[in-house]
Parts: sequence; C-alpha cells; structure tokens
Amino acid sequence: MSKQKLPIIIVGGGIGGMTAALALAKKQLFSIVLEQAPQFREAGVGIQFCPNTFKVLDYLGLSKPFTDIAIFPDNLCYRDGLSGLEFVRLPLGQQIVNRFNHPFGSFRRDDVLHTFVEQCRQSPFITLITTAKVIEVQEIDHKVLAKTASGETYEGEALIGCDGIWSVVRKFVIGNDEPRVSGQIIYRGLVPHEKMPQHLDLENIVHYVRPHAHLVHYPIGNHGDYNISAIFQSDRMPDPHEYKGNREELFSWFEGSRPEVMDILERVDTSRMWALCDRNPIAEWSKGRMAMLGDAIHATLPYLTSGAGMAVEDAVVLAKYIHAMDRDYPSAFKAYQKERYLRTAYVQLLSRAYGDVHHSSGVARELRNEMISKRSVEENYQWVSYLYSGIEIN
Ligand SMILES: Cc1cc2nc3c(=O)[nH]c(=O)nc-3n(C[C@H](O)[C@H](O)[C@H](O)COP(=O)(O)OP(=O)(O)OC[C@H]3O[C@@H](n4cnc5c(N)ncnc54)[C@H](O)[C@@H]3O)c2cc1C
Repeated sequence: MSKQKLPIIIVGGGIGGMTAALALAKKQLFSIVLEQAPQFREAGVGIQFCPNTFKVLDYLGLSKPFTDIAIFPDNLCYRDGLSGLEFVRLPLGQQIVNRFNHPFGSFRRDDVLHTFVEQCRQSPFITLITTAKVIEVQEIDHKVLAKTASGETYEGEALIGCDGIWSVVRKFVIGNDEPRVSGQIIYRGLVPHEKMPQHLDLENIVHYVRPHAHLVHYPIGNHGDYNISAIFQSDRMPDPHEYKGNREELFSWFEGSRPEVMDILERVDTSRMWALCDRNPIAEWSKGRMAMLGDAIHATLPYLTSGAGMAVEDAVVLAKYIHAMDRDYPSAFKAYQKERYLRTAYVQLLSRAYGDVHHSSGVARELRNEMISKRSVEENYQWVSYLYSGIEIN
C-alpha cells in the first residue's frame, strides 16, 4: 500500500465517528476526528448493544472494556400496558450468547463514549480534536478540505461524515434533504436503583406498550442505574428543535395504564422532551472522496435498538474496503455503500413498523397480543436472527 500522506478526516465524534477511527487504525490508517462540542459526550441516558454490536466490538479488541461497563439483563419482555399481559419474554443472559455467540448488554451512554475516547487516545493512528464545528467540506485535486466555524481548514485524503442526523456533510454529499419528523415524542429518566419501585422485575428490559404510547425501563451499566423512556405518538408534528417538556401532555397519553406503568412514569424527567426523527433509506452514501456513516446517512427510530449497532457495522465495512482497495476512496466508498444500504434500510423500515405495532389499538392490539404470545422462544429468536447474527467481518 502507498504511504498515507494526509489523514482521513472524520467529522463527528459520536459512537459512529469513534468506531470509524478505531476500525481505520486496526488497518493502520491515520485519521483525525473533528468534534464540534468542547468535550466528547453523548446525549441521552442508556443504550443497548445487541449481539451484532458486540461482534464488532470483539473484532476491534474491545470486548473487555465494554464488558466491564455493561450490565447484561436477563430477559427482554413486552407487556400490554393496559391489561398487563406479557406477550414476549426473550431470554438474554447466557442463552442469547449460546444462540448468537455474543451478549446483549446495556450501558450508560456517557460510559460508552468515554470508553471509545480512551481507546482512541491510546492509538498512534488517531488524532482527536474538539471545538471543531465543520461548516463546509469540499474535494479539490485528490484532497478533501474541511472548514470549521472558528476558521481552521483541515486537509485529508478522504472524509467520512459521522455528524449525526442533522449532518452538515450530508448537505454537500446528498443535498438539502431534511430528516423525517415522526410525530413521536420521547421523555427520559436516569433513576438510581433505590428510587425504582422495588416490586418490579428490575433485572429485565421491560416494555409496556399501549395504544399510542409505550414505556420502557432497563438497568444500565455497572452503577446500579436505570433508564426509563416514555414515548407517545402525538397528534401534532412537534418542532424537532423544541425541547421544553409538558407533563400534562405526557400523562394524558398514558391515562388508564396499569398502576406499575403510572408508577414508573412518575420517575421520568418531564422538563425536557425530544421529537423523534428518522431518515428515508437511500442507496447513494458517497460522492468522490466523501462518504457518510451512522445517523448521518440512515438515522432510524429506536424500536430495534440498533442505530448505534448499524453505525459500528458501517465503520468496519468502510475500513475493510478502504484497505482492500488500497485507498482508492471513490471505489471503496461505492463498495461500502453497496454492502450496507439494504441492511440499514431493513432497520429503518422495520423500526417504523415496530413502532406501529407497539402503539396499536383496537383489533390490531388484540391481534398482536394473541399472535405474538403464541410464539415459542426459538421463534422469537428467529425474528431477530438476521439482525443479531451480525455481519461477516474481515
Ligand atoms: C431514544 C433513542 C434510543 C436509542 N437506543 C439505541 C439503542 O439502545 N441501541 C442502539 O444501537 N442505538 C440506539 N439509538 C440510536 C443511536 O443513539 C444512534 O444511532 C447513534 O448514537 C448514532 O451515532 P452517530 O455517531 O452516527 O451520531 P451521533 O451520536 O449523533 O454523533 C454525531 C456527532 O457529531 C457531532 N457533530 C454534529 N455536527 C457536527 C459538525 N458540523 N462538526 C463536527 N461535529 C459535529 C455531534 O456533536 C456528535 O458528537 C437510539 C436512539 C434514540 C433516539
């Protein structure tokens, strides 16, 4: 391979950007990560990694640091939030390892990013720069330039946009298409163990689904904390940049729910809300020496808990082609998008459909409860098999 004279520029230091840097470093490729914020940090409370995500971490040699900060819940449960009927109980723990070779774990988001940052800092191939908000990117004479809001210009051999759902890079690569506002609104909570209702099964991930809304609680990380999320399908299209919470509106969507649901809802932080957005799947992810990964290209609703999982898979596939094609970036990026776009479209589209199933009412709700509760554990594993089995990595 010819000598690398300039780094690969990675715009955005979230889970996608960090994994891209580590995957490139594993192939002995230099990169520079430009992050707009003054510090690397994750928005939100908890995050779950499915077995396919752990498969990527394992390949990158990160199983140990991530196992150290994870908790491994016993079961993934779905219950009807009105009747209490449990219609799914998917064993996680050792059983999911036996079935898919890798675990299902959950984390505090800040622990996850901190661990990625520490790993990047130890690599001689990675430079991390904060307070570097990229405002313009361009390709000139077999090089890329990234200009920041504070007036610096960074030069690279190629550029990867990992700058999330509101990606600036995307505007230069794809054009001015906006994210899709789903109409769903989420509230979150980070609750210590002693403040959770102790009679609930706190060692599981439990979803309570009901018409137009659902609530989930699960343990996160090794500090004894819990993530709570409450989502409803609003009858308005919220402004995605509006964050002020409205307790009355939230509680009105959960009226009539089981007492345990209302009990947990009381522990949600009602001061802030987020409008959930996603993207329509597309097949073109790159232009010349610029490509994108993660939420910048295929942001998804959270119903398969796989947005970050897709970002880390993108990262290793991208590094594989850059290396295998001897840094012929335009060709490597085309090969990368070809391998990735259907799998990520599956997550985007199925997440929307699962959201509808979560929030169904009337006969659709009855049908869901009746049909899904009849499935065996093996049948439930088969439903997630395409996703959880993961990708071929080399
Ligand atoms: C409610 C909810 C629950 C979820 N739960 C899960 C889950 O359990 N499991 C899972 O796998 N996924 C989950 N996801 C999805 C997951 O959070 C995202 O898919 C993942 O974080 C995307 O990572 P990213 O690096 O692509 O983007 P981001 O995390 O958005 O990171 C983008 C980074 O780029 C920076 N940036 C932005 N613009 C610029 C710029 N112009 N210049 C420089 N830097 C910039 C940002 O500051 C940020 O650090 C969930 C999502 C939601 C909304």
